[in-house]
Amino acid sequence: MTVRIIDLLRQKPEGQEVVVKGWVRTKRGNKNVAFIALNDGSTINNIQVVVDMAAADEALLKDVTTGSCLAVTGLLVESVGSGQPVEVQARNIEIYGKADATYPLQKKGHSMEFLREIAYLRPRTNTFGAVFRIRHAMAYAIHKFFNDKGFYYWHTPLITASDCEGAGAMFNVTTFDLNNVPKTEEGKVDYSQDFFARQTSLTVSGQLEGELGALSLGQIYTFGPTFRAENSNTPRHLAEFWMIEPEMAFYDLEDNMALAEEFIKYCVQYALDNCMDDLTFLNNMFDKELIERLRGVVECEFVRLDYTEGIRILSESGRKFEFPCTWGCDLQSEHERYLVEEYFKKPVILINYPKEIKSFYMKQNEDGKTVRAMDVLFPKIGEIIGGSEREADFDKLNTIIEERGMSKETLWWYLDTRRWGSAPHSGFGLGFERLLLFVTGMANIRDVIPFPRTPKNAEY
Ligand code: ATP
Ligand code: MG
Repeated sequence: MTVRIIDLLRQKPEGQEVVVKGWVRTKRGNKNVAFIALNDGSTINNIQVVVDMAAADEALLKDVTTGSCLAVTGLLVESVGSGQPVEVQARNIEIYGKADATYPLQKKGHSMEFLREIAYLRPRTNTFGAVFRIRHAMAYAIHKFFNDKGFYYWHTPLITASDCEGAGAMFNVTTFDLNNVPKTEEGKVDYSQDFFARQTSLTVSGQLEGELGALSLGQIYTFGPTFRAENSNTPRHLAEFWMIEPEMAFYDLEDNMALAEEFIKYCVQYALDNCMDDLTFLNNMFDKELIERLRGVVECEFVRLDYTEGIRILSESGRKFEFPCTWGCDLQSEHERYLVEEYFKKPVILINYPKEIKSFYMKQNEDGKTVRAMDVLFPKIGEIIGGSEREADFDKLNTIIEERGMSKETLWWYLDTRRWGSAPHSGFGLGFERLLLFVTGMANIRDVIPFPRTPKNAEY
């Protein structure tokens, strides 16, 4: 029976026979003995395979090269060398797949840009193995957090006819032959002949449908892919990313903030409790303050700050920002990071934004100028969560939909939730990859998702 390396490294070495399979990271040695570092992806740690050259098949060993895949049968013994508790004394080696010198991941430091170009191979590196194991652990932690709190996992559609707020440009979904698109008499695209008999796109957010879940099951969360055709070539934007969107009946903005804070801290603590090998590797290789920063977030209390107060702090900072910032403007990343990294030195939840820069569905404050929005701002990342208490009043919602010239033909069902049995409710969206940027310390969002989708890039 094949044993995973993560389990093998925990076994007591008593000379027992084991079968271990994986990819060769390195091979070194001399004419008497060869040392093979084998990794199977179960852990950042390799198992050392020791080959006695006197008994070895030299021709076969020549094909044991970096990147080749092996099955090794041998005895598990205590390791005499430093750096590992146990090692395998090889009795038999079978080569599953050779890797010649053209294999791109030869042992040397590769740039992240180069590794992005070979995204189909990069999970075999230590760095991406660590990142993607953490990605899995965070996905699991998220489901566990919500399940333990009595939330229901609610699946919202990926194909939608409603533009949630114009959060970003949308990708069209159509089965038309684009070289021969049916037109109406006025020369417009005739969507009535399309697959859904209407214009449809990939979703930019599951929130509107999430609210339907909250107003029936009480507390739900979504966790799925989200698509934005925004041409923003930043280290924090993807065209396809994963979002977690909890939506809760009977939560006001205070409750919403408390949940967001508890949620993020839970995820970060989960990583500290369960991913320490990988975090330690990333900490040592890329970001010496990573683990300290993670602990800091778990231990501190997030600041709650009014947008208006935030603007005051920014304008009195004496700092010259690239984009000047006055009341009414949307904060840029530089402003968010000033507040978080320099002024407060901890995460900030900014609330009560001007209504003009926020979405139509946010609850309007009494002042007539602001809405009960909240953005959670994080060190290194800027915005990690966007959320709000939702407008529960039919008339107010109806008016703002009209004022903004939005389509009631596609939003009628959303309005109906305020017509019958409306309830105070709140929710937020966490960008999964933004959370991963924070937890892994990676600098570019393209490096925390296996197959990034960005402008002009959809390889694999
Ligand atoms: P930003 O201002 O950074 O573009 P946003 O205001 O468009 O964010 P929301 O519409 O509130 O973001 O979406 C909720 C969350 O989804 C954000 O807080 C962020 O974590 C994440 N997010 C938004 N756009 C992207 C993107 N293009 N790629 C990855 N994550 C994103
Ligand atoms: Mg955006």
